[in-house]
Amino acid sequence: RLKPRSDAVIRPDFKFEDMGVGGLDKEFTQIFRRAFASRIFPPQVISKLGISHVKGLLLYGPPGTGKTLIARKIGNMLNAKEPKIVNGPEILSKYVGSSEENIRNLFKDAEQEYKAKGDESSLHIIIFDELDSVFKQRGSRGDGTGVGDNVVNQLLAKMDGVDQLNNILVIGMTNRKDLIDNALLRPGRFEVQVEIKLPDEHGRLQILEIQTKKMRDNGMIGKDVDLKELAGMTKNFSGAEIEGLVKSASSFAINKTVNIGQGKTNLNTKDIENLRVNRQDFLNALNEVVPAFGVSEEDLK
Ligand code: ATP
Repeated sequence: RLKPRSDAVIRPDFKFEDMGVGGLDKEFTQIFRRAFASRIFPPQVISKLGISHVKGLLLYGPPGTGKTLIARKIGNMLNAKEPKIVNGPEILSKYVGSSEENIRNLFKDAEQEYKAKGDESSLHIIIFDELDSVFKQRGSRGDGTGVGDNVVNQLLAKMDGVDQLNNILVIGMTNRKDLIDNALLRPGRFEVQVEIKLPDEHGRLQILEIQTKKMRDNGMIGKDVDLKELAGMTKNFSGAEIEGLVKSASSFAINKTVNIGQGKTNLNTKDIENLRVNRQDFLNALNEVVPAFGVSEEDLK
């Protein structure tokens, strides 16, 4: 008889709202349905459907939009081993065969456990940042070494080769999906691909709420600050740039108190108590933090 899995794959106390990721609810729900939901059911049921678990998830989109943040949160959400986090270029070695060896090593623990237990009960996660820097279209490198090609082949072999592993999930991240070898994007490999775009106004509001939570909880934000207004003024800002904006506003607020260069760096208690980040500090910050994707005259209307 089929029983529910005794080992919870998803942490039972997990809630979307605790993720600290703003504006990506839709993307997250999609990732969850497409990449993880099947892992909650017993493997026998999944095989009756004629499907297998997703082993590769690709998050792609502009820099600073929260891809790494989501990948880490997924790691926390799943009852998995501490994720292995690798930056693409770290894998590459100038020594013959070493890069492939590095890839094999990443999968070693998962493999050994799979062999020993013969099931998928404990999940191993590998998070691969800057995937495009290593897994470029084979033959596109033009350096004649073929090292990159071997690395692509090695990852393909590990993801869906002869010795298939059901206890592994590889999360890849890239700003340039177009550069990645097509073979890696096919079913069985990085088959679930989700675009993480720049946040819209509602998303920006959520990110502003997350990034100012501490200062709001501690009463350090001025009453004149309207996060909705700021969400409207930060078109084309990524989550990372919103984080930068909040930092910059804080620095303006602090500097107002100390007035660097004005012969007043000795604070008194009042100065400390009066520290607030006000609307004007955010306006100053908006002049300082320029989004990489630019703001056109049209956007400011
Ligand atoms: P890259 O492509 O450059 O690696 P990324 O998409 O992986 O960028 P992150 O490293 O996840 O971006 O984001 C950097 C930081 O910006 C995060 O640690 C977080 O503080 C903030 N941030 C980005 N996006 C969000 C978001 N959607 N919600 C809350 N914070 C965010």
